[in-house]
Amino acid sequence: MAYYGTILMGAPGSGKGTQAKRLKKDFEIPHISTGDMLRAAIAAGTKLGDQVKSILDSGKLVSDELINKVVKRRFENSDVEKGFVLDGFPRTLPQAMAFAEMLTERGLESPKVFLLEVADELLVERLTGRMSCPNCGSVFHKSLNPPVAEDVCDQCGHKGLVARSDDSAETVKKRLEVFREQTQPLIEFYKEKSLLKTLDGSQEVNQLTEILKAELKA
Ligand code: AMP
Repeated sequence: MAYYGTILMGAPGSGKGTQAKRLKKDFEIPHISTGDMLRAAIAAGTKLGDQVKSILDSGKLVSDELINKVVKRRFENSDVEKGFVLDGFPRTLPQAMAFAEMLTERGLESPKVFLLEVADELLVERLTGRMSCPNCGSVFHKSLNPPVAEDVCDQCGHKGLVARSDDSAETVKKRLEVFREQTQPLIEFYKEKSLLKTLDGSQEVNQLTEILKAELKA
């Protein structure tokens, strides 16, 4: 059976979520976004949600211990055996090490890791204009990728698109700082294991999807 274990790495706004949704569809593998899982917990008012809400709003990272537990539980599901596309995890060295252990315990192969590189100015522009559909999760941008009808989701017709509370200019700055300090060291970790491929995340969206698809099939 083909296996498509994939990690998408990149700063906030580099396009991980957009590409992950497309790979999920094409390869029929689960899209595992730790950010989405945490936001769902917050929306549902669970204990986990209460624990992490103020951390997400600050732009900082939740603890490795907590996020590793969330991911470990998710990987107990059998749907990951065909592969997965991870978006937003791992984000620190301890997470990457814990994840390697989880895969070994689970009898799964090492994933392919892609770093989506985008210049800081474009990241800020993408994040501060981002809007998503609260009903189906489709993502738009007020100037770079606006919906056909203002404030209406192209995909499901829901009226009322929303901005993420952590996409404010101030929090975006903090999130980019956190990426540089805590997530960049992972690049070396995966490079040393010869698992990492760097791709230009500023290129046209469909073009990048085609490159990722070809890489995963190779
Ligand atoms: P994202 O949607 O990936 O940008 O994540 C939104 C927020 O969720 C981050 O700014 C963190 O506060 C939290 N978060 C998501 N994934 C992780 C992770 N792997 N480790 C720690 N915090 C995370």
